[in-house]
Amino acid sequence: MTDAGDRHRHLDRIAEVREGDVPKKVRYPIRVRETEVVRSTMVGTGLLRLTLGGPGVEGFESHSPIDHVKLIFPEPDGSLRLPEPNGDMLRWPRPAPVSRQYTVRRHDPVAGEIDIDIAPHPGGLASDWAQAVKPGAVAHVAGPPGGLIVPHVYDRYLLVGDITALPAVACWLEQLPRDARGWAFVEVADASEEIPLSAPDGIEVRWLHRGDRPAGTGDLMERSVTAVTVPEGERLYAWIAGEAGQIKPLRHWVRDELRLPRTDFDITGYWKRGVDNFDDEHDHEPHHHEPHHHEPHEH
Ligand SMILES: Cc1cc2nc3c(=O)[nH]c(=O)nc-3n(C[C@H](O)[C@H](O)[C@H](O)COP(=O)(O)OP(=O)(O)OC[C@H]3O[C@@H](n4cnc5c(N)ncnc54)[C@H](O)[C@@H]3O)c2cc1C
Repeated sequence: MTDAGDRHRHLDRIAEVREGDVPKKVRYPIRVRETEVVRSTMVGTGLLRLTLGGPGVEGFESHSPIDHVKLIFPEPDGSLRLPEPNGDMLRWPRPAPVSRQYTVRRHDPVAGEIDIDIAPHPGGLASDWAQAVKPGAVAHVAGPPGGLIVPHVYDRYLLVGDITALPAVACWLEQLPRDARGWAFVEVADASEEIPLSAPDGIEVRWLHRGDRPAGTGDLMERSVTAVTVPEGERLYAWIAGEAGQIKPLRHWVRDELRLPRTDFDITGYWKRGVDNFDDEHDHEPHHHEPHHHEPHEH
């Protein structure tokens, strides 16, 4: 196969999965990029948007609403250890460099910009960095390693998340066909954290106000989501992300009550109370992999 053919092989695969009947993870060629913080703005009171740009953004790709990148940070001693290119993969040093994962909220190839929306919270390495960072600062970005491509064949979509999953929910709602039907539930502290969404008319958006309770606590999300009734005989796709403990009852509900086939849901702990740099990958069942490919999340 020619170089150009190799380079675009994943695009053919993405097109094929979109035409099919079952969601699949497709691995993209992965790079590590040196980008520059262009600006930071607030989106509602709960998300800090960092716009990254510079020559390093050239060739960046994102194809799925839940594509995410790793921001790589210097070690406590100030040194920076970056993964090395290894064909279309990255070879990561051991132990792994300090990094945190964020959703690609927007990629504009013409402007050469990427937006990531970070939920500031006390005592977080990435959160502290994002709140202090000034335009011109360097940000090292790895990924996205690959994406979950969901063909738009479902009768209903159920999207659920807290503020860390709101960027992905916003992308989902923008990318779903305009005649899609279903529900989106987003838990935020209060109305000030709500953001404008471009939802299809048939998707009912419900903001859940947690109030004074700390993020990641309470059963408001569980109670609201499990009250949904999926019409008999309809095919549902469920996407759920948020604090690991808070979404656990929803994992059980999806599996045991809704009895969705494994292909028809994706549920991921995006963070866990009291745990730095939580990684859900070892915590839940394997996805339906592309054969002969490495797990995308390994980067
Ligand atoms: C695939 C994926 C996509 C993600 N996309 C986004 C995104 O677009 N935007 C986003 O904001 N987050 C996103 N997250 C979650 C984010 O990676 C975690 O919240 C991460 O822990 C933040 O890193 P930190 O350095 O700020 O805090 P850490 O150093 O990891 O944690 C320090 C302490 O803060 C707590 N903590 C972590 N996150 C929060 C929070 N949000 N609220 C309150 N306490 C917290 C931890 O429990 C820990 O006690 C995503 C996670 C994954 C796996």
